[in-house]
Amino acid sequence: MITFRGVHKYFGTFHVLKDIHLQIESGEVVVVVGPSGSGKSTMLRCINRLETITEGTLTVNGYDLTAKSTDINLVRRDIGMVFQHFNLYPHMKVIDNITLAPIHALGVPAKEAKETAMLYLEKVGIPEKADRYPSELSGGQQQRVAIARGLALKPKIMLFDEPTSALDPEMIGEVLDVMKTLAREGMTMVVVTHEMGFAKEVADRVAFMDEGRIVEQAEPRQFFEQPAAERAQLFLSRLL
Ligand code: ADP
Ligand code: MG
Repeated sequence: MITFRGVHKYFGTFHVLKDIHLQIESGEVVVVVGPSGSGKSTMLRCINRLETITEGTLTVNGYDLTAKSTDINLVRRDIGMVFQHFNLYPHMKVIDNITLAPIHALGVPAKEAKETAMLYLEKVGIPEKADRYPSELSGGQQQRVAIARGLALKPKIMLFDEPTSALDPEMIGEVLDVMKTLAREGMTMVVVTHEMGFAKEVADRVAFMDEGRIVEQAEPRQFFEQPAAERAQLFLSRLL
């Protein structure tokens, strides 16, 4: 579903991604961890071409992202993204936040878009908030709306960039629970997070990044119990 082969990226002269090799199969959940500034967000953003790569190849859902002939809008249709800050439109009701892209980007009829939106609001556990504004919701509820909004495009891939980092501790669990359900249902997911419990429970694989490289890729058990790379050992020891 996603293949990085020898990917490099520079911001000007700054070498932010170094020789990234990563293959993610359909239905896999890969959790990306690593220190701040190691390139996790940049790598994630390359997948929907919010950032372009400088060297190497990156294919997503069969599309070569570096090929001039690739229509990026087609690629993005299959990718939902959830950020640390929920990025909901404050002046729009929850339901309208969710139906906006299906109606305007995909041309789904309004009635159908609304029905679909309600299904996903039920899925994330807050159908009763449909007619509220984002400011009337807690952070955890807003993030669940953001997830419903991503799902409403019926993506094949969901990208999460620290989706719980801006939340109060008591709201983290409700968002992780929604993500766990998605994972169990077979969604292909790439998740940048500091929630190691989530990684242990849900990840098929953990990729550890440091200074622009994937230093280690392993099954969670292996990674948490016996990390091979010294930098991964150091990173994990600092979390305790
Ligand atoms: P992480 O998500 O692991 O914290 P990022 O991918 O956000 O790391 O950033 C990796 C490095 O690239 C950091 O040093 C950051 O300052 C730098 N960086 C990120 N975005 C840009 C940009 N648009 N221009 C220049 N440097 C950037
Ligand atoms: Mg980041």
